[in-house]
Amino acid sequence: MSIKLDGKHCSLEIQERLSKTVSEGLLSAKRPPSLAVIRIGDDPASGVYVANKERACAKIGIKSLVYHLEEKVSNQKIEDLIHQLNEDNDLDGILLQLPLPKELNAQKLISQINPSKDVDGLHETNIGKLIKCEPGLRSCTPAGIINLLNSKNIKIEGKRVVVVGRSLLVGKPISNMMLNLNATVTIAHSKTKNLKDICLQADILVVAAGKPKFIDSSFVKEGAVIIDVGIHRLKSSTNNMTQLCGDVIMEDVISKVFAFTPVPGGVGPMTVTMLLVNTIFSWQKRCGLISTLDDLLP
Ligand code: NAP
Repeated sequence: MSIKLDGKHCSLEIQERLSKTVSEGLLSAKRPPSLAVIRIGDDPASGVYVANKERACAKIGIKSLVYHLEEKVSNQKIEDLIHQLNEDNDLDGILLQLPLPKELNAQKLISQINPSKDVDGLHETNIGKLIKCEPGLRSCTPAGIINLLNSKNIKIEGKRVVVVGRSLLVGKPISNMMLNLNATVTIAHSKTKNLKDICLQADILVVAAGKPKFIDSSFVKEGAVIIDVGIHRLKSSTNNMTQLCGDVIMEDVISKVFAFTPVPGGVGPMTVTMLLVNTIFSWQKRCGLISTLDDLLP
């Protein structure tokens, strides 16, 4: 039987450790860790994600502040807010909730965040540190995937890894993390030829194409580990209900694989937990505490 890589369970375990880390550090730090989330516009999905993040912060003792700006806010106003938050010595993390309204350039705004507070790990300084294999804040979804594999002692070194997708958010950072952990990595994208043949070589197949039910069992090698990053809400053809699914048709693949991530409950919960890890990592550094979370930041 294949192993379910249960992101909810793994997240709870890490969050217990984080709660302890916060309570043990409070006396020396003299303040709790704190995170500012900037939300722009009224996209309902972003609203849900921000609320989840606030709840997760509250649970482990991180103070969270949400700055909700109107859809038509000027670039300058957002930059001013970021600069103000950069200067706040009692703040450890700044997160710009994505996606942004299309008039705004996300990467340019992220570049304005002080890299030591970039708890989404998307600033070029932090991406550079990842590529150079130096310690630092890491992008949350890829770091969550590595921790999920570690939680079941799934070895990465020496494995053939195929990543479908090359976004800055997922595909590129997970490829670099896998490479740093001594896997042999192939990155596929929309212009890749013979995608199926390439996927069939993977010991670990990471799918982040953003295409619902794109990968079936014909792409997957017997005994592989499959990580489904995609998340989509689809309308049922028979009733008005909606249903979450990933990029992978997991029911078709499951009997063939050694391990898999469910959707929902796989990669998603790990993403939020890694935001907490990054925030506490930054808090420890800013408050002169000893870093105790390096093993969670691949
Ligand atoms: P993205 O920016 O849209 O990138 C998608 C990537 O997939 C691109 O590199 C694209 O190639 C590639 N691609 C598209 N069609 C392809 C095809 N037919 N064959 C091979 N490659 C193809 O998406 P993303 O931000 O990386 O996110 C990917 C998925 O993960 C989405 O469903 C997103 O919602 C989900 N996600 C989930 C979490 C979580 O916490 N669970 C977090 C982040 C993202 P090109 O570069 O050539 O266009």
